[in-house]
Amino acid sequence: MAEKTAQTESDIDSSDRWSEFKDELRQRLPQVQFDIFGPRLNFMEETADSVVASVPNPMIQDWLKDQFGQSIDEAIQSVYGSGKSLELQPEEDSTPSDNGQSTSDSSQNVNRTFPFGEDVDLNPQYTFDRFVVGSGNEYAYTAAQSIAEDPTNSYNPLFIYGGVGLGKTHLLQAVGHRVKNQWQQANVQYISAEQFTNEIIDAMRDTNKRKDFKYRYRNIDMFLVDDVQFFGKTDHSQEEFFHTFNTLYENGKGTVFCSDRPPKDIPEIEERLRNRFEMGLMVDIQPPDYETRLAILQDKANQQALKLPHELLDWIAQNVTRNVRRLEGCLSRLAMMGSVSGDVELNQAKQRLRDLVSPEEEAQPVLTLDQIMESVAEHFSVSVSDLKSRRRTQAIAEPRQVAMYLSRKLTNRSYADIGQEFGGRDHSTVMHAEDKIKEIVDKQKPLARHVRSLKQDLT
Ligand code: ADP
Ligand code: MG
Repeated sequence: MAEKTAQTESDIDSSDRWSEFKDELRQRLPQVQFDIFGPRLNFMEETADSVVASVPNPMIQDWLKDQFGQSIDEAIQSVYGSGKSLELQPEEDSTPSDNGQSTSDSSQNVNRTFPFGEDVDLNPQYTFDRFVVGSGNEYAYTAAQSIAEDPTNSYNPLFIYGGVGLGKTHLLQAVGHRVKNQWQQANVQYISAEQFTNEIIDAMRDTNKRKDFKYRYRNIDMFLVDDVQFFGKTDHSQEEFFHTFNTLYENGKGTVFCSDRPPKDIPEIEERLRNRFEMGLMVDIQPPDYETRLAILQDKANQQALKLPHELLDWIAQNVTRNVRRLEGCLSRLAMMGSVSGDVELNQAKQRLRDLVSPEEEAQPVLTLDQIMESVAEHFSVSVSDLKSRRRTQAIAEPRQVAMYLSRKLTNRSYADIGQEFGGRDHSTVMHAEDKIKEIVDKQKPLARHVRSLKQDLT
């Protein structure tokens, strides 16, 4: 099928065919993927059995081959003839064993230290592998992968926004995992905007902390900032953040932000910071459709080796529509029940999940701190005013910490807010409570059982 053309025409011919190939590829890839990767494939030459094209780096080369190898081959063959395949050549070599960097600043690298690189606090479950892609999150997923593969791309900074429990933190941390996997020495920092604000406030009070702070936020390779809607109103924190971000950006480092709403709807944020957020790619995450919800349930049930009848998963997917965390909540409740087989058990299971799947519940997922305090107080046989009091006996302090922990986990309220509601306490008290109970839960100490059952009652 490839006709022989006169030498003089061959250049024109090859560029025509290359754009024909791009058109074919466009039809075969999901549009977002094509938009991101299409422009980065550049024709180099045609040989007897292949068409050679360059890609920015080896990660993108592998990713394209793994994800779209077949579609790419089909597109090539439809234009260049059946014997041909596409050979991808990375423009730069960024294998981790070299110097740990894909960018061209390897000279700077010699003097680098990565004091926090190893400790970055990422949830090991929050990887790309464990993220179920479907309508609603596909665009955000692709953009997150793309920036993880190559932080210098034109989608930097990436701003992901969307409702609670839809996987923003999961994707943000997946970027961190991917970068760490590729370049072990990369300095990845994950922090919530609120924590960042608190660190700045601390740093302003204490010279040593100020040094630590400056040290920590220099030389970051990938900066992951969660819950940007909680950025403190203090000018100073935004100012510091603005400088940190600008420095990273100018040095070609990656930044990803998450928020529950787009920058224009966060009134606390200064105009110039908002402009920074908006200068890269903004993508939203929408609630998953039925197929995606079912796929998520199946995936998570498999991971926990939970055998559940399809009918039950289908019923959950039909009824829990707006929050992936809630889908997970259903599964953990079922895990406690053990096996479900037969009609009687099926009905019992549905019964147990009823409050989680009722449409009214879904319509008002906002839990108040009062509700949390009331449940916790009742569970531990203390009073709500005990929880708000200054008393520090263990019988009261522990339930109070549990209530603070649950307030963080189950609502969107800030540390400062929660502290305020618990008898006018400082944000650091709430942070301490959160850490302490988290450790108890992680280590499955006896109190963890109470935390778990309270959490289930509340969600
Ligand atoms: P957000 O930060 O948007 O509030 P999270 O990232 O904390 O949401 O997600 C809530 C829970 O749902 C997490 O346990 C996360 O792993 C899970 N989750 C969300 N979306 C997906 C998905 N598409 N595939 C698998 N798990 C998901
Ligand atoms: Mg989150």
